[in-house]
Amino acid sequence: MPGPSFRDTRAQAQSPSANSQQGPQAQTRQQSSSNQRGGGSSYADWHRRQSQTSGGLPGGRNTRPAWSLRMEYWSPEARPTRIRVIPPMFEYWGRWVERQGKKRFVLSNSHGGLRPAPDLLYYYERQEGNEQLAPYKSDAVTVAVLENFHVLKVPSKKDPKKGYDRLVRCGGADRRGVPTCEHCRANPMPPLVFGNRQHWSLSSNMRAQLDDALAGLHNRCASCLRGAIQVYAYKCPECSEMLADHYNADLRPDEEQEATLKSEDVECQHCNKTVRAVEVIECLEDLGGGSVRPGCDAPQRGQVPADPLYGYDLQIAMREIGNNAKELVIVGFEPAQKYDIAANKLQPYNFLDFFGHMTLAEQSEILGRPNIFGPEGEEELATFMASLRADTREGHERVDDDARDGESIPW
Ligand SMILES: [Zn+2]
Ligand SMILES: [Zn+2]
Ligand SMILES: [Zn+2]
Repeated sequence: MPGPSFRDTRAQAQSPSANSQQGPQAQTRQQSSSNQRGGGSSYADWHRRQSQTSGGLPGGRNTRPAWSLRMEYWSPEARPTRIRVIPPMFEYWGRWVERQGKKRFVLSNSHGGLRPAPDLLYYYERQEGNEQLAPYKSDAVTVAVLENFHVLKVPSKKDPKKGYDRLVRCGGADRRGVPTCEHCRANPMPPLVFGNRQHWSLSSNMRAQLDDALAGLHNRCASCLRGAIQVYAYKCPECSEMLADHYNADLRPDEEQEATLKSEDVECQHCNKTVRAVEVIECLEDLGGGSVRPGCDAPQRGQVPADPLYGYDLQIAMREIGNNAKELVIVGFEPAQKYDIAANKLQPYNFLDFFGHMTLAEQSEILGRPNIFGPEGEEELATFMASLRADTREGHERVDDDARDGESIPW
């Protein structure tokens, strides 16, 4: 007897009656998917804009297994890390699932029912009404980690003469220049290389923190790139006397007065002229938990674009904010610098290769539940992924034509 076909479950999941129990949730997903940031910056759109012929084209000759590519991940740590984020963002869905005391990640081929791909995670979530199997959306993006790495030789278990290279970030040295890095102290020291390509998976929470931190760069001091610009006083442009000053109890403005100083002409209490107050700024370094310290002596307002995610080198760290909670902070940034780094380390991953889908066999193994769709489902999934790749490839060729036209226009 044939098992339920994939289309049947989709139809069932999408019918309002079968869906009533989890309706709101499904709706949220629908919304979050259509609310993606940066419309027109989907993976397919991005590929349309690309004209390079190597470095992660869909369907390329990437022979590395998906699990090994997934292992090359980066995540922010307490110690600041200099990275360059390389577009595009790639949306994927999945869920950590615990079985026999082991946590493993299962990709959702259908993005939680949003696209027509056979998906055991989605099937069993609906079948069992099991919240524990509900996938969530993440964004993956390529990062070039602009730090020193040691090249460690990891021998193969089968053949000790063979093996592979593993890059481990150098632990660096303390303030006196004494290495705190165990690999630097090893004899012989494993060779150092600069720069590594990894990928960063951002949960929606992490993504929101990153967006907040990026928005905060607007206020960053352009002189030292560390502190934030704060207005602490208002001065008369005619006589240069202070009209208001937060550091002077006699001149401290209340909220209403400060709003007036920012938006209207006022009469100077010193020279009696009607003037527009000039802001007096200072640079303050945020130490976290609401405490600050004075920054540099030459505060300057920055010229940071609205979305400085790309084209900047960012130093990112996780900062303790109490109750075991941490938050992402950008402790330094500068326009992308030229580094002596292999060109392929600045190429984006082809995320379709390892976050695009998971075979039903692998899903079944991680979930510990049978592949109800059988080999036909596997084929259907392969066909779906092939069409996804073909779409991006077709778009890619179309852009190549556009690009050629563009070149023929004389300037
Ligand atoms: Zn080291
Ligand atoms: Zn004045
Ligand atoms: Zn400063």
